[in-house]
Amino acid sequence: MLAPKPYEPNRSLFAKIERRLTQYRKAAPATVITDRPILSITFDDCPTSAAETGARILEEYGVRGGYYIATGLMGRNSHMGLVSTPDQIAELFAAGHEIGAHSHSHLDCSQAKHDEVMADVERNIELLKEICHTFSVDSFAYPYGETRFDVKKHLAGDFLTLRGILPGINRGMVDRAQLRAFEIDHTQHSFDRAYSALDCLKQTPGWMIIFTHDVAEAPSQHGMTPDQLRRLLDRAQELDIEICTPKVAAERVGFSVS
Ligand SMILES: [Zn+2]
Repeated sequence: MLAPKPYEPNRSLFAKIERRLTQYRKAAPATVITDRPILSITFDDCPTSAAETGARILEEYGVRGGYYIATGLMGRNSHMGLVSTPDQIAELFAAGHEIGAHSHSHLDCSQAKHDEVMADVERNIELLKEICHTFSVDSFAYPYGETRFDVKKHLAGDFLTLRGILPGINRGMVDRAQLRAFEIDHTQHSFDRAYSALDCLKQTPGWMIIFTHDVAEAPSQHGMTPDQLRRLLDRAQELDIEICTPKVAAERVGFSVS
């Protein structure tokens, strides 16, 4: 949820209706096919604590996560602490974590003009390819979770997975261009909701995505603690839930860019 200046969502009635319609209008219908429960743990904006503490904990459990990077914020200070530098992002990638796109300027994709969104995302992709020395960036998360049908439709051709912020487990027919995800922030409620969803995921397999920001003993209002991350991983492994990056998960459940 990081922004260079405090973000003001559009509160007009029209914007609210648009947002609701966008959520239900599938731009890239896809079917999640899996016998096994699958979980992806992701971090938006990548404050250094997510790259250091967060990644170290995931690696202790033998799993990898997804990091969504707004390249324009790299190395800058934020209310979640310093944002990771290109070198730190390259290290994460080299350690097997997935580096996803998040727009260059942390753009509200529901408000900006179509061409502006595409140019900004293109710049983001090119920079990430350079930083990671890779040929493709396969996953995207909408900054603030905000999007629009024309944007979803276009970006579904560029990315295998696109993540929103609406809670829920991805099962059956979903929108590959606006996948559901549980946010964990500083509130106990957000942690409890995601923690108990693991049992639902075990009962009826699908693909569950969690996202947070910083990982610290005293997290920002958008982050979580190291102990909470460990508890989630303990529980997921206890339930024999497979934990993998968004790209690997998408391939497991049968997604492809069409
Ligand atoms: Zn963000």
